[in-house]
Amino acid sequence: MSPAHRVKQPNVPRARRLERVFAARRGVPIQSGSRRTSEPRSLANNLTSPTRNERLGEGDIMPPEDESIRALREALAVSPDNVPLRAHLAESLAARGWHDEAEKEFRTALQADGQNASLLLGLAKLYWRQGKDSQALVIVEDLAKKRDVAAGVLVLYARLLLRGGDVRGAVAQYKLALEHDPDSADDELGRQLGVGPEDDTSEVVEGRVRTGGEGWDAPLEMEIERPPITFADVGGMDAVKEEIGIKILMPLEHPELYAAYGKSTGGGILMYGPPGCGKTYIARATAGEIGAGFIAVGINEVLNMWMGQSERNLHELFEQARHNAPCVLFFDEADALGGRRTDMHSGSGRQMINQFLAEMDGVNSSNEGVLILAATNAPWHVDPAFRRPGRFDRVLLVPPPDKEARAAILRIHLQGKPQEMIDVPRIAQKTEGFSGADLKAVIDQAIEHKLREAVKLGRPHPLTTKDLLAAAKGMKPSTREWFSSARNYALYSNQGGIYDDVLKYLKM
Ligand code: ATP
Repeated sequence: MSPAHRVKQPNVPRARRLERVFAARRGVPIQSGSRRTSEPRSLANNLTSPTRNERLGEGDIMPPEDESIRALREALAVSPDNVPLRAHLAESLAARGWHDEAEKEFRTALQADGQNASLLLGLAKLYWRQGKDSQALVIVEDLAKKRDVAAGVLVLYARLLLRGGDVRGAVAQYKLALEHDPDSADDELGRQLGVGPEDDTSEVVEGRVRTGGEGWDAPLEMEIERPPITFADVGGMDAVKEEIGIKILMPLEHPELYAAYGKSTGGGILMYGPPGCGKTYIARATAGEIGAGFIAVGINEVLNMWMGQSERNLHELFEQARHNAPCVLFFDEADALGGRRTDMHSGSGRQMINQFLAEMDGVNSSNEGVLILAATNAPWHVDPAFRRPGRFDRVLLVPPPDKEARAAILRIHLQGKPQEMIDVPRIAQKTEGFSGADLKAVIDQAIEHKLREAVKLGRPHPLTTKDLLAAAKGMKPSTREWFSSARNYALYSNQGGIYDDVLKYLKM
């Protein structure tokens, strides 16, 4: 008699029917080799007998035998080798929290089919639920190596890694799971790992903690410029040029003299003042003056939304400058270091400042040949720790250019432009409060106007004093607004006379 034939014999019709129902539900075939037991009822009954308590694990609560479990057991009693059916029973038990019972069924099923991936996954999930992570990992690591790994294995792998503290690994496995099967997405896990539909507000993104603000993940590498301008291209700013000369350039050119007088070198200059008055421009000219490289970086570019990444960015920047010494490292928006602290988790803001100070102090590497300049429009937000000796111990106001400086700036920017004899002092006279950038804009606007005229007339006309005066008349000086807030700081929080230059400029 063939086995199939034997199975068909309706010795226990109810059990057989149920076996079929559950098998059909699970989409699994009825095993043709299922054996019938001669005492199906007694086996099933045994499971509800008092001795069952002894088999329950400590965590198991004595389950009220429900209809479906009973039916599954009865079906299995009829065909004990039906692996899918036993797997279904094991999963049903696990879902009800009857862990030991479930494990027993998984193990029995695995005896028949030790390589069955879905059984192994079921057992691993069971271990996971019980907090037996290392046992679960042994199985999952093995399954994950297989070529046709199921997405569910990878999701469980991600959970295990996350619980073990390997967030990066968890992110990688979870992303892999989604690649295999987008339907394997698990909202809760996705949220924990920050993987899934983009959410600008979530604190965790791809396993890393967002600290606020914007940022990117790539290592920060800035372009090194060789500026073609020197101090001769900078109009006015005599005090700043002198200070940079003494503090930054001379120690580099004559280190032996500084050593002879026991004068320490290092540290930087922090320039502050209204926008467009040449802070960046003179920093570039400083590099051009000695043929050094120039790296300009806005602090906001360094600040990264990932915890720890901002500090790494800063370190990489200093390293880049060190490798390219002599090099002027220019930090714009220096106030963002202090200002952003309130936006960021305070811990990470502090770390960022400490990192900056450690780099400046050359704690781990020498800053020889690295010339540090910084600029800000809001010096009152800069952390006082930056102003200690050896750091930004020179804080200089870069005021709007005076009349002579305006004339110098106008001459510099008029060079090479088609022009008639221009009355530069007259324009300088009429542009009180204009920044260097404003003056450049005056010339640019006059040139644009001239270009439009030239197109209409079909021939070029040189720039005249009248053109420039007309352009200046249509513009407002941009520096006044800055002084209205600087004035308050200079009057009410002028610790150590730091803003005396502002008061002097305002003649107060
Ligand atoms: P911000 O605070 O907005 O960064 P800034 O003080 O750094 O402004 P710069 O970017 O250096 O200002 O100046 C803008 C432009 O104005 C320069 O590129 C340059 O063309 C012109 N300029 C400013 N000051 C001078 C100057 N003293 N001599 C010649 N050009 C100048």
